Amino acid sequence: MAPVTDGSTALPAAGPAVVAYAKGDLRIEEAPLAAPGPDEAVVEVAYGGICGSDLHYWLHGAAGESILKAPLVLGHEISGRVVRPAADGTGPAAGTAVAVHPATPGPGAARYPADRPNLSPGCTYLGSAARFPHTDGAFSRYVNLPARMLRALPENLDLRTAALIEPASVAWHAVARAGDVAGKTALVIGSGPIGALAVAVLKRAGAARIVAVDMHAKPLEIAAAVGADEVLAAGDADAIAAVEADVVIESSGNHHGLASAIRGAARGGTVVMVGLLPTGPQPVLISLAITRELDLKGSFRFNDEIDDVIAALADGTLHIEPVITHEYPVAEALEAFGVARNSAESGKVLLSFASDR
Ligand SMILES: [Zn+2]
Repeated sequence: MAPVTDGSTALPAAGPAVVAYAKGDLRIEEAPLAAPGPDEAVVEVAYGGICGSDLHYWLHGAAGESILKAPLVLGHEISGRVVRPAADGTGPAAGTAVAVHPATPGPGAARYPADRPNLSPGCTYLGSAARFPHTDGAFSRYVNLPARMLRALPENLDLRTAALIEPASVAWHAVARAGDVAGKTALVIGSGPIGALAVAVLKRAGAARIVAVDMHAKPLEIAAAVGADEVLAAGDADAIAAVEADVVIESSGNHHGLASAIRGAARGGTVVMVGLLPTGPQPVLISLAITRELDLKGSFRFNDEIDDVIAALADGTLHIEPVITHEYPVAEALEAFGVARNSAESGKVLLSFASDR
């Protein structure tokens, strides 16, 4: 379809879009594109990465405590091009390649650090059922997005790699939570896309030794390709304990992984927990964390780190391409979700939305 650049031109149809209806009920639908608000640009989506949360809505009808109460357009890891800029004149011009910051900080009055809007109460996120009405995501060929969410991309950055900017920002935030990692020994528990991206960010930040852990061979291959110096099987408890890492990034999201993270940390070390454990009480190896005086830190989404990621990709200091293992046209989204679910076989699985693919 020809780009829509003129306010007098009819809007394109939004579809095909990937919509989660309920547990096990994922549909690919054609949908009309609503008239954009004055602060919204129309973006032609090029690629969308399938995230763990997208998988959870499909497999369980919920992601953590965010439960589907109505059909939800999935997707928040997006790259694309502006086809119609926002009418109020804000944001990138037509034709600009963009990445998307999916968060809208909440207006809530509850106390939180002013420089950490990711912690603001009532924060919404594209493709999330955390609030009702739900916040539709961007897995559709065309989508209206607030111009303030858009980040212009340098021309030397391809849109395929750009689909990794959102999860790479999550990884960047997690590594930043650990403080200065230069010259340090780092351990990454769980080498799925977030773990592998954390390896890449640690490498760029100058970590002296990076050890990646996973249950499966494929994620460890990817971790090695983006900068891990050593890889270990998740079951090799003795070898993990022997790492004595200054910094541990826990990205497996289960309590066994968190136990490994604590065992693998050196005395006085820092464990950053970015993998989201299930809600409710979790068994944790807490006595060891106490006697080793570990700093246990949570990590949730990100803020302006997205700009650091874009700059590091543009100047060639951040290498993340090996994290992408599969690409499917949106018409084959169901198959793509099936592959993304299999962490033994896939890293990041992309959907492509361009009409000529
Ligand atoms: Zn994601």
